[in-house]
Amino acid sequence: MASARGIGIVNEPTLRRAVAATLFAAMIAFVAIDPAHGEEGRGPRLVAMTFDDLPFAAASESRKLEAVKADRIIRRTLARRGVPATGFVTEDNVRALGPDGAAILSGWLRDGLDLGNHGAVHADTNDLDMESIRQEILAGEKTLLSLAGTFGRPVTFYRFAYNHVGDTEERRSQIEGLLAERGYRLAASTIDTSDYLFDRAHQRAASDPAMRRRIERAYLDHSRKQIRYYQALNRLVLGREPPAIMLLHSNVLNAMTLDRLIAIFRAEGFRFVSLTQAQEDKAYRTSPAFATRFGPMWGYRWARERGVRVDGNNEQEPPNWLSAYAETGVVADR
Ligand SMILES: [Zn+2]
Repeated sequence: MASARGIGIVNEPTLRRAVAATLFAAMIAFVAIDPAHGEEGRGPRLVAMTFDDLPFAAASESRKLEAVKADRIIRRTLARRGVPATGFVTEDNVRALGPDGAAILSGWLRDGLDLGNHGAVHADTNDLDMESIRQEILAGEKTLLSLAGTFGRPVTFYRFAYNHVGDTEERRSQIEGLLAERGYRLAASTIDTSDYLFDRAHQRAASDPAMRRRIERAYLDHSRKQIRYYQALNRLVLGREPPAIMLLHSNVLNAMTLDRLIAIFRAEGFRFVSLTQAQEDKAYRTSPAFATRFGPMWGYRWARERGVRVDGNNEQEPPNWLSAYAETGVVADR
């Protein structure tokens, strides 16, 4: 099932700022932030945890030890807290870690966690023709399918790099057809916290424990706000909260904060389910019929599909000091 593939690590910009400015600038309704549940009295909120770029985001030979340690902490935390999760595998990241790459994936399967396909080289579908997208999907299966087969486990979901699922309606439905051909369901995402950006800052602070703690606190504060924001967005658009799908990456930051993030979800009234369980909800029966060159969370896609007006500018960005530090390694107020 493998085929020719390129090598190259691609970072993960969410382009949310661009999404907010371009897609939703002129829109008016205000998404109120309130902690009320969508369907009161109907049980807890549900969330599925997903980790992209497995076995380790921006994997490289020199980061093998970090990758193995971070993965061990993430899986141990999930096991200890009884939290199911799906990891999305990028074949390039598997290769970059040598035998440790496949060993990490085996660890996920052995722990009863699910794996999905996240492509061969994390290519952006906006830049590819259909044949290249097909190759990205197929070559993404190389290690994944044989390992999953060994453990007798299905690989149900595909998630595109950057959540780019087609920039025109024609391409979007062709891409959907490609997934169906290979037997995949498109993985949705409803909560994004720009964790890749906080992780970039966290990496810069590798020799500064106080700064790392500050970044972790800022990340968790931002995560709490984003969880509430996206739940409110979904309530506004759908009139209820379908199971949430948390978009995270396999990185050191999440290893260090996952236990606290799980506690935040529990404090917000969430119970954890698998991605399969989450996407059984009727909200996920079909992919939103909304083509975009950006990768917005599903709440925005549902809004566009239904003609519900929302102002993406109400969404909080990560703090300025954090973004600056992630880019330059310098903090002005310190
Ligand atoms: Zn990714």
